[in-house]
Amino acid sequence: MPDKRTVVVTGGSRGIGRSICLFLANPDTQIYFNYFSPSNPEAEKAAAAETEKLVADLRSSAASMSVDVADAKEVEAFFEKIVGETGRIDILVNNAGITKDGLLVRMNENDWNMVLNINLKGAFTCTRLAAKIMMKQRYGRIVNIASVVGVSGNPGQANYSASKAGLIGLTKTAAKELAARNVTVNAVAPGFIETDMTAALSEKARNAMLSQVPMGRGGQPEDVAAAVKFLASDDAAYITGQVIHVNGGMYM
Ligand code: NAP
Repeated sequence: MPDKRTVVVTGGSRGIGRSICLFLANPDTQIYFNYFSPSNPEAEKAAAAETEKLVADLRSSAASMSVDVADAKEVEAFFEKIVGETGRIDILVNNAGITKDGLLVRMNENDWNMVLNINLKGAFTCTRLAAKIMMKQRYGRIVNIASVVGVSGNPGQANYSASKAGLIGLTKTAAKELAARNVTVNAVAPGFIETDMTAALSEKARNAMLSQVPMGRGGQPEDVAAAVKFLASDDAAYITGQVIHVNGGMYM
């Protein structure tokens, strides 16, 4: 094993991704993450810098870049930089994701494509690049952040739930293809987690979601990050192709 493990987290500037960076941060890891908010570049740069600082406080190191996961060329350059610096990728967490909600009959092609390109194609691009390196290393951990709605469906989220269902299919197929090289691939499917993504919901939509949670409250980013940390650890060496639900009982 190398002195330091190289960790890549997509969408690490805030929310669940930031928490994952912090849970994986320790003196034996070097963390790379990306973010992409062309509409508010200054705020996002500041958010990324905050994640970097919090990681450094845990005696790990983090470097971030503005990289659109939907753009395969940008992702390739990001991975080339990482491998150029550390020579490896040990852990990949495909976390970057967006929503563009609307009822199916009113959903336009642009909103469909955008969500699928970021949530699913982005994970495919990162997984393919990381898999090549992990196979050579004979070691790797890939964790995909899916969603409860990828399994249950949700009115108003045809694009998002399709992207997350696709991510679960990608997880299982990659798990079967990479298992013999000691590379595990799993998914974590969060339910309702308190982040900017859910803060954007209307009071009505929020209450409707929370009414489905037997534990009666939303989860925190740390609840998801703890499951990711376990799946990325050596303790999870014999677990692959699984979907771990972190949802307060919302879906069983
Ligand atoms: P969030 O607070 O909105 O954060 C999203 C992160 O993804 C940000 O770091 C954002 O970067 C990044 N991102 C967005 N588009 C990107 C792109 N094209 N390329 C690179 N990075 C991009 O969301 P969250 O709630 O933490 O969600 C994280 C993941 O969990 C997502 O995959 C989401 O679908 C999933 N999830 C969330 C919930 C929930 O209840 N919150 C439930 C189930 C699943 P910027 O900061 O630059 O925008």
